[in-house]
Amino acid sequence: EYILGIETSCDETAAAIIKDGREIVSNVVASQIESHKRFGGVVPEIASRHHVEQVTLVLEETFAKAGLTMDDIDAVTVTEGPGLVGALLVGVNAAKALAFSHNKPLIGVHHIAGHIYANRLVKEFEFPLLALVVSGGHTELILMKEHGDFNIIGETRDDAAGEAYDKVARTLNLPYPGGPKIDQLAHEGNSVIDFPRAWLEEGSYDFSFSGLKSAVINTLHNAKQRGQVYRNEDIAASFQSSVVDVLVEKTYRAAKNYDIKQVIVAGGVAANKGLRSAMETKFDDEAIDLMFPPISLCTDNAAMIAAAGSIAFNQGHRAAWDLNASPGLDLERYAQRKN
Ligand code: ATP
Ligand code: MG
Ligand code: FE
Repeated sequence: EYILGIETSCDETAAAIIKDGREIVSNVVASQIESHKRFGGVVPEIASRHHVEQVTLVLEETFAKAGLTMDDIDAVTVTEGPGLVGALLVGVNAAKALAFSHNKPLIGVHHIAGHIYANRLVKEFEFPLLALVVSGGHTELILMKEHGDFNIIGETRDDAAGEAYDKVARTLNLPYPGGPKIDQLAHEGNSVIDFPRAWLEEGSYDFSFSGLKSAVINTLHNAKQRGQVYRNEDIAASFQSSVVDVLVEKTYRAAKNYDIKQVIVAGGVAANKGLRSAMETKFDDEAIDLMFPPISLCTDNAAMIAAAGSIAFNQGHRAAWDLNASPGLDLERYAQRKN
């Protein structure tokens, strides 16, 4: 079984072909980061235009690298949402055109299901499974009892983890995207400032990062007025330890509470070295299996979309030819439907 995946939800134009749900045959990502850098974030109009320019080239390269043609493909899967509407539309239309003209099944995939399934390209899932999704737009704890089943047991009430990284990076005048840079600085600094940890109500698996972001801004502002100087490395280390403490502790509590067999971490922030090592330490003595995708599969790519799409394909999901971009697509509703 060969599945084609297409992903254009944000600022990466990506296509991939995977075999039997778990093996990458080719995986091409054209990043637009350079075009958005000078604006300090993703500009939707620029993103759409880049996708239009890149999508055909990226698809051609994906087939060339695989040594396959559309005749070999069993299904075309594409990120349907959530994301930027203009960006999503480019991928959805490319997928529809390819699938329709070659008479192949078309399947819409939820972007976060994709981030989760990036892990299945590494190792088979074991249920019940708990996914910690930490990306640019999402911070969620998701319980899965079987393939294609997603139950959100906790989510952020304000900023996503990646968003907090990017905003703090901007405050420190670091280039976009700031997450990797803060991660690097954190390793050269010490956690000297005791920033707040948002535990929220007893037993809650929700997250909140906007208070932490404000605390960083206020600390820098007050220090400046007092003529005190903090090293960026120490700010980064202090901020990172606050984020990581809460992510790790809540994931651990949920894993225990739901008798989880496997914990997986997904999304761009799963690339974070501090998070990876703290998770490894916390789950070291446990019978729970802990898994991270390789760094290249943490951020947006289409292999993860094909991996989630392969499951949907085998469960009989088929999209109609009027499949549309769905910028606010809900994960639990997506899990429930059959098209
Ligand atoms: P979503 O998946 O929620 O729609 P997105 O696709 O924009 O959002 P991803 O591509 O999954 O997000 O991840 C990008 C985010 O990951 C950015 O916020 C970036 O700063 C963050 N990130 C990447 N590497 C690291 C790292 N090493 N440490 C912390 N954050 C990181
Ligand atoms: Mg991105
Ligand atoms: Fe993403």
